Amino acid sequence: MSVQVVNKINDLINKIKDIKAEGKTIALVPTMGCLHDGHKSLMLKAKSLADIVIISVFVNPIQFCPGEDYDKYPRTLDNDMLVAQSAGVSIIFAPSVNEMYPGLQKFSDLTMVVPPYELTDIMCGKSRIGHFDGVETVVSKLFNIVQPDYACFGMKDIQQLFLIKKMVKDLNFPVEIISCPLIREESGLALSSRNKYLSAEAKIKAITISQALFAVRDSFNAGIKDAKKLLDTALAVLDKDIELEYLEFVDKETFKTIENIESNTICAIAARINNVRLIDNVLLEV
Ligand code: AMP
Repeated sequence: MSVQVVNKINDLINKIKDIKAEGKTIALVPTMGCLHDGHKSLMLKAKSLADIVIISVFVNPIQFCPGEDYDKYPRTLDNDMLVAQSAGVSIIFAPSVNEMYPGLQKFSDLTMVVPPYELTDIMCGKSRIGHFDGVETVVSKLFNIVQPDYACFGMKDIQQLFLIKKMVKDLNFPVEIISCPLIREESGLALSSRNKYLSAEAKIKAITISQALFAVRDSFNAGIKDAKKLLDTALAVLDKDIELEYLEFVDKETFKTIENIESNTICAIAARINNVRLIDNVLLEV
């Protein structure tokens, strides 16, 4: 069966009624498209869990801050269909902005799902004000439309994954969130749709982002537990043309910042190269 593209919410709801009437389970993979092997790994995981895999391809305007790359974000639906097809996806839900947010003039007109302030006043949430409000709102809409049994999210966006799990628990969404491992290029660079923006030269520099994280992990495994010393380790490895936005150590279970690492800790980074913003993380396991 070839993958179907559905643009209208009501058409999707009707298809989902039929799928559920047949007693089939559904796994959802929300994406912004420009699909790569990182996304594909989520789809394959979804396929291993459920009878029907639905992915969404939607560049969600309300999760972009003013001045970010919403307009130039790569939109590659034809290729996305090939990737989805190769992963056994049944339906791509690719709505227009007007379909998702009819008549929306400004974000403040919309009912939003807002995560707790203290969990967004760190890492990506701190520099991308309102970003996670936009993410939680669109994911809530997708959950309500698709009513999936499972939804797969990547550990690449580790703060997003944490917040989505919390939202599902706090708001009793009847869906199981599946955490999927971060997929890297052979060079170590985390796969990202935004890697498309990088020139060959910038990409070589960007590789030092993952190398910095691996160096932190090596130092940690060699016994260094002090976050400041680990930060210095990372800074020594990062290419000088890379602008560090943050490198933070947070507890895996609570997302609270850690200075002296005693439990399982996420070391997460955001950095810019030629104004392309990239994120990555590793787990420091005790
Ligand atoms: P995006 O299209 O960037 O919004 O990502 C859609 C989903 O794919 C999110 O759950 C991401 O965490 C996940 N994802 C993106 N890149 C990767 C990667 N390199 N490895 C694993 N998951 C990823």
